[in-house]
Amino acid sequence: MNKTIPNSFRSGPDDRGRFGQFGGRFVAETLMPLILEVEAAYEAAKIDPSFDKEWRRLLKDYVGRPSPLWFAERMTTHLRKNAPEGMGAKVYFKRDELNHTGAHKINAVLGQILLAKRMGKTRIIAETGAGQHGVATATACALMDLPCVVYMGAVDVERQKPNVFRMKLLGAEVIPATSGSATLKDAMNEALRDWVANVSDTYYCIGTVAGPHPYPQMVRDFQSVIGVEARAQMLEAEGRLPDVLVAAIGGGSNAMGLFHPFLDDPEVAMVGVEAAGHGLDTDQHAAAISRGRPGVLHGNLTYLLQTTQGQITEAHSISAGLDYPGVGPEHSWLAELGRVSYVAATDNEALDAFQICSRLEGIIPALEPAHALAEVIKRAPTMAADQIILMNLCGRGDKDIFAVAEHLGVSL
Ligand SMILES: *Cc1c(COP(=O)(O)O)cnc(C)c1O
Repeated sequence: MNKTIPNSFRSGPDDRGRFGQFGGRFVAETLMPLILEVEAAYEAAKIDPSFDKEWRRLLKDYVGRPSPLWFAERMTTHLRKNAPEGMGAKVYFKRDELNHTGAHKINAVLGQILLAKRMGKTRIIAETGAGQHGVATATACALMDLPCVVYMGAVDVERQKPNVFRMKLLGAEVIPATSGSATLKDAMNEALRDWVANVSDTYYCIGTVAGPHPYPQMVRDFQSVIGVEARAQMLEAEGRLPDVLVAAIGGGSNAMGLFHPFLDDPEVAMVGVEAAGHGLDTDQHAAAISRGRPGVLHGNLTYLLQTTQGQITEAHSISAGLDYPGVGPEHSWLAELGRVSYVAATDNEALDAFQICSRLEGIIPALEPAHALAEVIKRAPTMAADQIILMNLCGRGDKDIFAVAEHLGVSL
């Protein structure tokens, strides 16, 4: 049962897994028993102190949590230079790029793999686009001695060779998905097919706040460790809550994780940043909320990039992690309610932010949070100097230096 909190933005989903009209479980009849089993197991695990204790032990000793809250002083000073007198918010980073494996995905993967073990599952499957969720899942499976199969679009296998090799080093099997456009959505379909065929022993580990209920809620709950930590750290550093939260949106898990603990604080504004690719007015972007329409993908109803006939269209972003044609259903709901604003940053804006952050803060960010930083760069100078903007620096950029070099015309 989901406890409904009256008049709360934190009350969703309802018992049908809906956030308003969004979410739910749009799956084949054969998948329904598996999903109900995951839901029942998760409901039991989340109130079991021993489950929580083991997850937190891993977060602390294996992942390296809590991640620090960093006052980006040079960035703040830099942005004040072009701001009118008395303007230019203080910029803080929540440093989830320091996690083991270099991003936030490991937080929810460890929670899910512990859940799988608790359910007696002996085999893990996952889908991956750029390979980051595949690497996080393969990592947790190595640690917990579970066989891991990762479905990855054949096109992505070709594009993301280093991550394919990483997964193999970690002991995972990578299966190229050749149907459709042979990218992420096709890998998700193959993973769902595998799950139906291997009901009894297999757990499907999803990488973002998408999929059928209870996945959007479960992944959000695990990722909320980010916002819970950030809230306490900000109160300690500044004695008050931030004025604005900013996070990049692929499927939306790092953003949901930061936002959720603050949703009922009316003084805290929130901004999700989608990938505008070559521009929102081209067909080369990944802005499902800004330019999509509601439809069903991967078991839930949400905003999607689709043609007028309802065919899902390919997303484009310089950042592989934002290259998803949908968005988690809770974001669709928060967008309709107006609680969170959704904007977009282009490939070029992200590339500029990537370089500015590297030079000013000595932190090479992943291209995904570089989109969030592009919004911070636009927004901070419009805010008063005593205001605070907190950005989720959800991944580090080591993985992206080759793509960035290519875009800058540098040959390595
Ligand atoms: C995968 C990934 C994303 C996109 O996923 P969300 O679910 O939207 O968080 C963003 N940043 C990084 C670093 C990623 O690896």
